Amino acid sequence: MKVVQVRCPSCDSPIYSKQRDRLFYCDRCNVLHVRDGGVEKIDFEIAEFASEPPGEKVYIPFWRLYCSFVIRSKSVEGEYVFRLASWMRGEDGSGTMFIYVPAADFDTTTFKRLAIDFTVSSPKYNTRLNFGSIRRMPTAMSREEATELADFIIVTMEAEKPGVLQQLDYTLTVNGTKMVYLPFGVGPNGMVPAF
Ligand SMILES: [Zn+2]
Repeated sequence: MKVVQVRCPSCDSPIYSKQRDRLFYCDRCNVLHVRDGGVEKIDFEIAEFASEPPGEKVYIPFWRLYCSFVIRSKSVEGEYVFRLASWMRGEDGSGTMFIYVPAADFDTTTFKRLAIDFTVSSPKYNTRLNFGSIRRMPTAMSREEATELADFIIVTMEAEKPGVLQQLDYTLTVNGTKMVYLPFGVGPNGMVPAF
């Protein structure tokens, strides 16, 4: 694997990174940045481990999309959309929500499961300032790719409950993004959340 070296845009320290990680993290000043044409700092947070997981401690990257959601017409009995609707403030069929897009390189089944689990039930956690010595999975997906998957995740949530959704006419707008590193244990039984 090729290792690349760039410099931190904040403190100018060299950062050595495996090339398959799209994001560069400076462990001297805790700045995360991306180099896609230009150099841009990335808004991010790191969740603290709340339990001692089985297996190896690992951080998994997610793009957390802050979305506004407007339902124009609905005839919906789906549990998930009902839950989305229940988060909305007021009676006008609009509101905000977080969509979690797994950003490491996962197979489709794992991707869908992680996306749905955390979009349906937003993780609660304390944050920490750095990764310590804990490994993080490389980010394979760009922020733009994640944003384009927002609708796919909503549709996938409904597809999990076939036949329940009658009609849902909605608009989803992504207003902001944040990179969120969530703690897991990775062992013989797969990935277990540890927050
Ligand atoms: Zn730095």
